[in-house]
Amino acid sequence: MNTYRIAAVHGDGIGHEIVPAGMKVLHAAAQKHGFTLESETFLWGAGYYQEHGDFLPENGLEIMKSFDAVYFGAVGLPEVDDTLPFKLFTNLVRTAFKQYVNYRPVKLFDGIESPLRSKTQSDIDFVIIRENNEGEFVQTGRQLYPDNPEGMACDTTIMTRAGIERVAHYAFKLAQKRRKSLTNVTKSNTLIHTLAYWDRIIAEVAEQYPDVAYKKMYVDAASANFVLHPEYFDVILTTNMIGDILSDLGGAIMGSLGLGGSGNLNPEGTFPSMFEPIHGSAPDIAGLNIANPVGQIWSGAIMLEHLGETAAAQDVMYAINQVTASGNLTKDMGGNATTDDIANRAIDALAVNPVNA
Ligand code: ATP
Repeated sequence: MNTYRIAAVHGDGIGHEIVPAGMKVLHAAAQKHGFTLESETFLWGAGYYQEHGDFLPENGLEIMKSFDAVYFGAVGLPEVDDTLPFKLFTNLVRTAFKQYVNYRPVKLFDGIESPLRSKTQSDIDFVIIRENNEGEFVQTGRQLYPDNPEGMACDTTIMTRAGIERVAHYAFKLAQKRRKSLTNVTKSNTLIHTLAYWDRIIAEVAEQYPDVAYKKMYVDAASANFVLHPEYFDVILTTNMIGDILSDLGGAIMGSLGLGGSGNLNPEGTFPSMFEPIHGSAPDIAGLNIANPVGQIWSGAIMLEHLGETAAAQDVMYAINQVTASGNLTKDMGGNATTDDIANRAIDALAVNPVNA
């Protein structure tokens, strides 16, 4: 029997509710499909920072490195400087573990009405591949004399050939397994150095995948098309910052930010990958058992897929869809189910699904 060691990092806010809810569903899927998840809980995040001065212990990365995967909630608290969670936790793990692919799927579940009234399930089904280790978010720059009339500030975007090529190959290979269409979302008509280089290298890689229809779209047009024509998209390949922004828009057209799951992937498996919902720690609703755990459970399905447990991953996706289809919805989706209700109904759905049994 395969055993996978999972580091369950709650983070803050609703992380304390949705990570345990998600783990419960994943344990049920593991039991059904004949493998074991050995999970260990870590209470790291902004709360830990308030007590210890950092988001994780000094040997936190070493500890996580010994696991097969990291199952993460969300970090951040209103009382803690909001620039710190990215710098001291999320981006630290993403770069230290070379998780250069951020895999963010967008799709419409049964029983959920998209704010795009005329769009159906077949119209909203695409994946955003966001470059996750460089680009606009490398945080290289400075402020000079910020209080003076001559004050100035700059941030530098860094794009490397190797960094662009590796994420591009991942995205084109993914497109080959899907509907064979890839859209490079860019803004190279104004960012004429970094993004023009990005476009040039993506176009070079595209030539190696002649079976994938390749097109380029500027991010302003892409934003409009998310709303007007989401059916245009299959695989979207884009940069760190553009992908960050577009994936919240993706969450919105799915019907709630609470629905989106994601994976920070190290495709070669040289370090563990990390799986987290696309939303934040939602401190405004923490502790009330009303947070939507679907994005967290979906992130778990992406984790199972990454670990090679494809049948279990598909089963979890089936279970999520059964839960929403039967009207079990948390407040953000227009219902009154609790976080625990959603997890328990997903476990019930796994138990009765004859497929993959
Ligand atoms: P971050 O910058 O870390 O992504 P944020 O400041 O954008 O976080 P979130 O924490 O994602 O904000 O919350 C934005 C809004 O969405 C809040 O009103 C929050 O309650 C709601 N929200 C986020 N996640 C969920 C969820 N899983 N279930 C229900 N509501 C949620």
